[in-house]
Amino acid sequence: MKYQLHLAHLYGDLLNTYGDIGNVLVLEYYAKQMDVELTSEVISLDQPFEATKFDIAFFGGGQDYEQVIVSKDIQAKKQALTDYIEDGGPMLAICGGYQLLGKYYIGANGERIEGISALDHYTKSQDNNRFIGDIVIENEETGQKYHGFENHNGVTYLGKDERPLGKVISGHGNNGKDQGEGAIYKNVYCSYFHGPILARNGELAKRILLTALKRKYPDADLTAQEELKIKPTY
Ligand code: GLN
Repeated sequence: MKYQLHLAHLYGDLLNTYGDIGNVLVLEYYAKQMDVELTSEVISLDQPFEATKFDIAFFGGGQDYEQVIVSKDIQAKKQALTDYIEDGGPMLAICGGYQLLGKYYIGANGERIEGISALDHYTKSQDNNRFIGDIVIENEETGQKYHGFENHNGVTYLGKDERPLGKVISGHGNNGKDQGEGAIYKNVYCSYFHGPILARNGELAKRILLTALKRKYPDADLTAQEELKIKPTY
């Protein structure tokens, strides 16, 4: 393979709701077609996140119980993760991971679960309710539609310099009110989609891989990679 990318799977042993790890497998699948060898390693409790070692990071979702454990540990990685994000490092964060990149998440029992404030959103709790079901959104920059499945108690409100991943066409999205779903900040993509998101939305996988390639190999001719055709899988 001509190119190499290394992925950090943040807390892959704790946050893996609905097979979120499938996102890593999908990235490997498209990476091969782009002449890229994608390797990955789980970075979990008590392990440092070395920002310069990674070209992509993936952060899955989980139950409140696991989120509390991760919330405590991730404070030690806060600076390194923020540096990585501010430096334009590509990241995909799903549901619980999305919530923990923000300021805080009020769990279903009312407890405040601290995030790392790398992104400016915050997440509150619904009263005895969850948003569960199929969802379709449209990314307003590309016109691409993303299909997925959401299941979350948290309702998220975006903050400074964040825009939604897409506008809700059907389903609930971030909070059921403002028609936004997910968040984009620099090269970080956040979403409530499980299922996993990239298996049904290969265009997003391609976008993340291209971003990582351009960042690591700024002088490479990536025409063939740009032209890779993605078959719709939903
Ligand atoms: N525990 C969080 C919530 O209910 C995240 C859930 C998830 O990752 N599926 O909002």
